[in-house]
Amino acid sequence: MEFQKTLYQTVQEYGLMAKKSLGQNFLLDQNVTDKIVSLSLEKQALSDLSQHNVLEVGPGPGGLTRAILKKNPKVFNLIEKDERFVQIMEDLKTQTNAPMNILSSDALHFDIQSLKAQNLQIFSNLPYNISVPLLMMWLQNLQSISAMTLMFQKEVADRIMAPIKTKDYGRISVITQLLCDVQRLWTLSPSYFTPAPKVSSSVLLLRPLKNHPTNEDIQKVEKLTMLAFGGRRKMIRQSLKSISNIDQICEKLHIPTTLRAEEISPSSYLEIAKLL
Ligand code: SAM
Repeated sequence: MEFQKTLYQTVQEYGLMAKKSLGQNFLLDQNVTDKIVSLSLEKQALSDLSQHNVLEVGPGPGGLTRAILKKNPKVFNLIEKDERFVQIMEDLKTQTNAPMNILSSDALHFDIQSLKAQNLQIFSNLPYNISVPLLMMWLQNLQSISAMTLMFQKEVADRIMAPIKTKDYGRISVITQLLCDVQRLWTLSPSYFTPAPKVSSSVLLLRPLKNHPTNEDIQKVEKLTMLAFGGRRKMIRQSLKSISNIDQICEKLHIPTTLRAEEISPSSYLEIAKLL
């Protein structure tokens, strides 16, 4: 795919100042954004995106957008809250004649079901201030999602991937790991971004597990883990004591009530939740 203007020319022309309130840390090196998309497609054994409906949240000046366009998406939806970038995306659409559907709106209020996609690929260098709420929202809509390639602050990525019995293991690890296969594709130092954030970032590839738990069961796990990790240092017989039959449930499942929240695996949380 040929672009009339380079990313650098676009940024120069529009004189873009990053807005901290919108979590704007841009990726302006096309080699970096190309690598993110290639790593993701490689892991998914895909040569391009020609069979996929793609959604990019927060395209900004369009580094990742250009990398996605090179992979020939069947349909390409983009949601951007900052009007300045909506105009840049309209220009890119005119330049490339690509099947881009540009939405000027807030991704937190966007229902991905409205895209009526079966095999949605979500890509985003996420605005860090809303990365976890966006992930949680998409995890409730996995029936339309084929994969998510998402940039998080490394500390958040560590929590998502944390194994049992580690300090980072918590609610977000339990819920995400019950629903998705998660792989870390790349960790990037702050210098890759403009302006440079204070901390490193990691790109994760999240793919829905086959036969993953229902939303109903996940809601129960959410309540259960809120109680358990709310008293992280306590034994669960203490932190879960508001659940009247917790002793019987744990006995039935052979889960000692002397364990603490971080010593219980995602699948054990699910087993308990199903009996609530
Ligand atoms: N994709 C670009 C890149 O990699 O250079 C920009 C990434 S920047 C970290 C986050 C982007 O998300 C910004 O363009 C910002 O305006 C946009 N954004 C922030 N909050 C948003 C929201 N609630 N809905 C949609 N876009 C949002």
